[in-house]
Amino acid sequence: MPLMIYNSLSKKIEEFKPLKGKKVGFYVCGPTVNNYTHIGHARTYITWDLVSRYLTFLDYEVKLVSNITDIAIDDKILKELKKTGKSFFELTTHNMIAYYEDRKKIGLKEPDVNCLATQHVIEMIDLIQKLLDKGYAYKAEDGIYFDISKFKDYGKLSGIKPKELKEGASNRVKADEYDKESAADFVLWKNKKGDEPYWYSPFGIGRPGWHIECSAMSMKYLGETFDIHSGGEDNMFPHHENEIAQSEAATGKLFAKYWLHSKHVLMNGEKMSKSKGNFITIRNAVELYGALKLRFFFLNTHYRKTIDFTEKELKNTNVKLEKIISAYEFLKAAKGSNDSKELIKKLTEFKSNLTAALNDDFNTSLAITYWMAMCKEIQSVKELSKNSSKTILDYFDKISRLFFGDLEIIKENRINDKLSSALIDSLVSLRNDARAEKNFKLSDDIRQELEKNEILVKDSKDSTVWEFK
Ligand SMILES: [Zn+2]
Repeated sequence: MPLMIYNSLSKKIEEFKPLKGKKVGFYVCGPTVNNYTHIGHARTYITWDLVSRYLTFLDYEVKLVSNITDIAIDDKILKELKKTGKSFFELTTHNMIAYYEDRKKIGLKEPDVNCLATQHVIEMIDLIQKLLDKGYAYKAEDGIYFDISKFKDYGKLSGIKPKELKEGASNRVKADEYDKESAADFVLWKNKKGDEPYWYSPFGIGRPGWHIECSAMSMKYLGETFDIHSGGEDNMFPHHENEIAQSEAATGKLFAKYWLHSKHVLMNGEKMSKSKGNFITIRNAVELYGALKLRFFFLNTHYRKTIDFTEKELKNTNVKLEKIISAYEFLKAAKGSNDSKELIKKLTEFKSNLTAALNDDFNTSLAITYWMAMCKEIQSVKELSKNSSKTILDYFDKISRLFFGDLEIIKENRINDKLSSALIDSLVSLRNDARAEKNFKLSDDIRQELEKNEILVKDSKDSTVWEFK
């Protein structure tokens, strides 16, 4: 079966046929760095990480481009500036570094192009100028707006069409984010107000609206028409709808061929929101549950289904994850004489089942079910030769990269390590004694030695725990 993808634009499952043979241009809407990224973002990014890795797995040559809204063009950043009293650069730089750290923590592949909005204001100005020249944009008292009545395909992605307006009613939205009721002319350029950051343009001093950046940057790096544009379902309207309108109006060409959207993450059945306090940042989630479990948890559900983030579901994920780790441990320790042709045959079946599942619109949930079945087969073998275990391990490593990204599924030092664990325990207790005697030099030396061996020691008020890094 070829790779089939659900295209939000056609609302159909379609065969994936890139525009240029094996080359794939892939744009992912990145975060606005007004705050730390949360687990809703984690789901979206982990999904696109898997999609991009799977395309590479299928021998496509992927060019991945993702943006960062690091600019005060976003109302959310301005609000945060007022609240924290930080300077624009202080806030965006701090959150941008945090975003890179979070990406690393959850094993995401670096995009081929990481583009910052602040570095592309000229491209945005050019695009707005083009829309003005072509008559799709007009000047109002507070900035430049896109006239949606001029773009006949408006609403083709989200299905949200402009309403007939009552006489005298306003047909403009100033905000970057607005709801479905207000399909209306949207802002491309906001004239300077107060002490907001600003840029110079032929149409006055001000700052770009939010939507224009993704059109300008994706087309710069991937061309006027490219293969995949993705984001969370929240992005579909107005952001992606507006991206299509302004890009296709400017070029007269199709903007992106396939649109992919991942669903929400709920927290114990409710929508996550800061005001309800049911909000977990990526860094907190990694601290609480570990990155492997987090990635596996999200991929255990198909990306087009809503996920409920509950302790119970996380536990279920853990059971599955442990099965994979145990299978790994068994394979790595294998030194027997049995080549187990039967098991190698099962591996061939597993390979084709896994590809079939992922070719079916990236059905990771089904792929994991097959992986579990394969782990069960492995555990049913009493002993296995090194050769056979290597054949299976090579494939496990390949698919682990898809699911766990740059994270290590298993550390060599986890295997058969009852003895090492006991040794580490003794070292840690030796260190505790040193600390109690205020011999901080010795306690630091022990901690450093352990760290050299990738063992992380964590002290809290009344206990010390350790873990493999
Ligand atoms: Zn975007």
